[in-house]
Amino acid sequence: MSYVSVRDLDLKGKRVFIRVDFNVPLEKNTQGHLEITSDKRIKASLPTIRYALEHGAGVILASHLGRPKGKPNPEMSLKPAAKRLQELLGHSVKMAPDCVGPEVEAMTPSPGEILLLENLRFHPEEEKNDPGFSKKLAGLCDIYVNDAFGSAHRAHASTEGMIPFVPQAAAGLLMEQELKYLGMAIRNPARPCVAILGGAKVSDKIQVIENLGKIVDNLLIGGAMAYTFLQAQGEPIGNSLVESDKIELAKRLLVHLGAKLLLPIDHIVVSEIQPGAPHETVTKIPAGKIGVDIGPKTVECYARVISGAKTIIWNGPMGIFEKPPFDKGTVAVAKAVAASAATSIVGGGDSEKAVKVAGVIDKITHVSTGGGASLEFLAGIQLPGVLALTRSR
Ligand code: AMP
Repeated sequence: MSYVSVRDLDLKGKRVFIRVDFNVPLEKNTQGHLEITSDKRIKASLPTIRYALEHGAGVILASHLGRPKGKPNPEMSLKPAAKRLQELLGHSVKMAPDCVGPEVEAMTPSPGEILLLENLRFHPEEEKNDPGFSKKLAGLCDIYVNDAFGSAHRAHASTEGMIPFVPQAAAGLLMEQELKYLGMAIRNPARPCVAILGGAKVSDKIQVIENLGKIVDNLLIGGAMAYTFLQAQGEPIGNSLVESDKIELAKRLLVHLGAKLLLPIDHIVVSEIQPGAPHETVTKIPAGKIGVDIGPKTVECYARVISGAKTIIWNGPMGIFEKPPFDKGTVAVAKAVAASAATSIVGGGDSEKAVKVAGVIDKITHVSTGGGASLEFLAGIQLPGVLALTRSR
């Protein structure tokens, strides 16, 4: 996979369009003003923005926010993101009234200036990947940079469509980091390579299991996903969450993956899912009980495999970690991953939360900013936004 990096280009005096991911969560404060509740996506884009400014570019930033369904919606304006970016950078940020059109063209930034375009999805043409709209966006710039890994699995005008119409296209610094670590994990991981997969459903992660199954040395399964596999093995699962229509698939995967695939050997079970509900540890799930977390023996076994790994890929919690104490298994796995000397790659919002709750986020080599995009990447699917960058080379 070969693409141009923003570091390879001469940005001086150029209008550089950076597709960022400013799809930040917003909430109304007590005065009814929309406020950003997490600015981590804005922070993640700062290195590329700073790099472009320092190298003499006029910076145009573009992003989507929420699902405005092709119509302007003041509740999904990027204005709060402009304000936060300004605070974080200590540099003024002009806000455009739209993302295309004469008014926006007249606002093109001079070197050292930043212009944030209004929400791309206020135009239905963005998600339709409309060539006319792509051309208009491309007309704003001399260089296109994609730093929005979290949107790279979407073939939209700003992530894919505009690339053939720009003079030069490159990956931003965040995009490069993502491609470096995720690419290394699925192409040439240091071995042993261990994947840990959890979460609610097998169906969401079938392609990831199949693809990683070809790559990794061990696949550790946790979360409700494990019960579909256990039922496929004929184990009792009580009233645990299960995907009955995926039992046959689970049987096939069990045969195909053989000893690589590890399943929980004990479980935390409850009668009803409530935070702090009475619970017990069992090796066989009794009728009527619900599995809500992996048990201590499983934690011990998984931690042993993790400690011997040289590469770790983790996506999805080991239990209902939002409801303590059923976060114990997930937190223990997070700590085991952090304690290992392996290159560790964590993807997906829940696993990121888990490493944060466990207080070990700084010990993880790479925490991916793209939930859906990182899953598709691990599933071996070519992301349209990345493919377009490699084609433009
Ligand atoms: P996913 O989005 O597929 O990664 O799934 C994450 C969700 O799986 C979280 O909300 C967890 O609460 C849920 N989950 C994990 N383990 C279990 C379980 N044993 N029973 C029910 N839900 C679970």
